[in-house]
Amino acid sequence: MQPSLDALKSILDADCLLTDTDALQQYGKDWTNNYPVAPLAIALPKTTKQVAAIVRWANDNNIALVPSGGRTGLSGGAVASNGELVVAFDKMNHIGSFEASTQQVHCQAGVITEQLQQFAADNDLYYPVDFASSGSSQIGGNIATNAGGIKVIRYGLTRDWVMGLTVVTGKGDILELNSGLIKNATGLDLRHLFIGSEGTLGLITEATIKLTRQPGNLTVLLLATPELDKVKALLNLFQKEVDLTAFEFFSEEALVKVMAHHDLPRPVETEAPFYSLLEFDASSEDIIEKALGCFESGLEDGSIIDGVMSQSQQQTEELWKYREYISETISSRKPYKNDIAVTPDKVSDFLHRVDDIVSKHYPDFEVIWFGHIGDGNLHLNILAPETMEYSDFIAACEKVNPLIFSELEKMDGSISAEHGVGLLKKPYLSYSRSEQEITYMKGIKATFDPNNIMNPGKVF
Ligand SMILES: Cc1cc2nc3c(=O)[nH]c(=O)nc-3n(C[C@H](O)[C@H](O)[C@H](O)COP(=O)(O)OP(=O)(O)OC[C@H]3O[C@@H](n4cnc5c(N)ncnc54)[C@H](O)[C@@H]3O)c2cc1C
Repeated sequence: MQPSLDALKSILDADCLLTDTDALQQYGKDWTNNYPVAPLAIALPKTTKQVAAIVRWANDNNIALVPSGGRTGLSGGAVASNGELVVAFDKMNHIGSFEASTQQVHCQAGVITEQLQQFAADNDLYYPVDFASSGSSQIGGNIATNAGGIKVIRYGLTRDWVMGLTVVTGKGDILELNSGLIKNATGLDLRHLFIGSEGTLGLITEATIKLTRQPGNLTVLLLATPELDKVKALLNLFQKEVDLTAFEFFSEEALVKVMAHHDLPRPVETEAPFYSLLEFDASSEDIIEKALGCFESGLEDGSIIDGVMSQSQQQTEELWKYREYISETISSRKPYKNDIAVTPDKVSDFLHRVDDIVSKHYPDFEVIWFGHIGDGNLHLNILAPETMEYSDFIAACEKVNPLIFSELEKMDGSISAEHGVGLLKKPYLSYSRSEQEITYMKGIKATFDPNNIMNPGKVF
C-alpha cells in the first residue's frame, strides 16, 4: 500500500510535490536512460529546513529517497526504480552572498554549474570545474559525484573548490561542515565524506565555493600524434615548460564521427590515429615561445605529425568543439561507457590491453576512445553493431567488463574515474576497492543513515 503524501504536502510549498506521469519519468532517471523508472513522487524543496522535514517523513514512513540534481549523471546514481521519493533541487537555485576578499560564494545545491561559472565571470573571477554537461548539471550533483572534467590537470576536482557544506543526513540532522574556513584542525572533516558520496549519506543543500583568478588568454594546440605512446612523450615535453590547463585526447574514430555529425572540417590536414588537445594560458610572449618550442621539438622527434594553434578566443572555442562534442555525437548509438583511470604513465599500456581484449572477443564492436589523458582518465565507449539487439549488446559488454577490470586491477586503476559508481559500476566496485574498505564505507553509511533510506542500492 502506498503511503499517504498528505503530510509531505504540508511540508512543501504548493505545486512542489509532483505525481504526474511526465514528472515521474523526467525526474526518475539520469543520462543512462536504461533502468526502469518508477518513483513514488517528486519533491521540490526550497529550503534546507524543508529537506530535513522530508527526511524525517521518509524515516517515519520507511520511504527511500533519491537525491536528484541535473540528472546528467552517467552511472545511474539518480535513478529511482523502486517507489522512492525523488528529492530534486531545481527550486534551490539561488546564488547567495559573495565575499570578494576570500573569493568565496555561497549557493544552494540546485545552482546550475554554468550559472556559477557565469557568476564568477561577472565578478572577474573563474570557476574552473567544467565539462560538456555543465549547462545542465547542478552544483549539488557535482559535489555528490566529485565531478572532474577538462581542467583537472591544472585546477583539480570539485573537491578542491568546496570550502563548506550544509547537509541533511539520512537521520534528518542538519550539519554545517567547515563554513568556508581555510584552516580548521578540529578532527575529521566530514565535508569530504559527503563529496563523492553519490547521495548515499544524506542530501547536500548548500555549499560555499571558492573561485579563482580568471586565466588571461586561453590558447589551444590541437596536435596529430602517430601513436599513443607518443602522447605520453608530449605530456612530458609540454609539462616541463608550460602550465597546461587541459590535456585531452581523442581517437580518429571519435573525430570522424564529430566532423560528420556537426559538419565540421578536419582540424589538421594530416590524418592520425590519435589527437591531443592542449590548452594553456598564453599570458605572455615568453609562454607562447615556450609552447611553440615544444611544438617544434615534437615535430622533430616524431611525436607530432601535424598541428594547429588557436589565434583567437573564437578559434580556441572552435577547436574545443572537436573534443567537447564527442559524448553528444555518439549518444544516439547508446554507447556502453567505461570511465576508467590509471596513473598517466600507464595509459598507453592499458589502452593497448583493452583494445586487444575487445577486438579479440567482439571484433564487430566499434571502440571510441577519448578522455582526460593528462589525468590518466580514459573514456572507453563501445558501440554496438547497428543490427544487434541492444539487450544482447549490453549483455556482451557486461561479459567483457571483468576482463577489462582485471587488467585495471593489476594496474591499481579505478573502475570509475569521475562518473561515480551508482548502479552501473556497482557490480565491479571490488576491482578498485578492497572488501575491508567497502566494509568501512558501509559502516560510515550506517552512521549517517541508520535506516538506509538514502539512495539505497547505489554504490554498494
Ligand atoms: C555529455 C556529458 C559529459 C560529461 N562530462 C563529464 C566530465 O567531463 N567529468 C565529470 O566528472 N562528469 C561528466 N559528466 C557526468 C555528469 O555531468 C557529472 O557526474 C555531474 O557532476 C552530475 O551532476 P548532476 O547535477 O547532473 O547530478 P545527477 O545526475 O542528478 O546526480 C548524480 C549523483 O549525485 C546525487 N546527487 C545529486 N544532487 C545531490 C544533492 N544535492 N545531494 C546529494 N546527492 C546528490 C544523485 O543521487 C546521484 O547519485 C558528463 C555527463 C554528460 C551527459
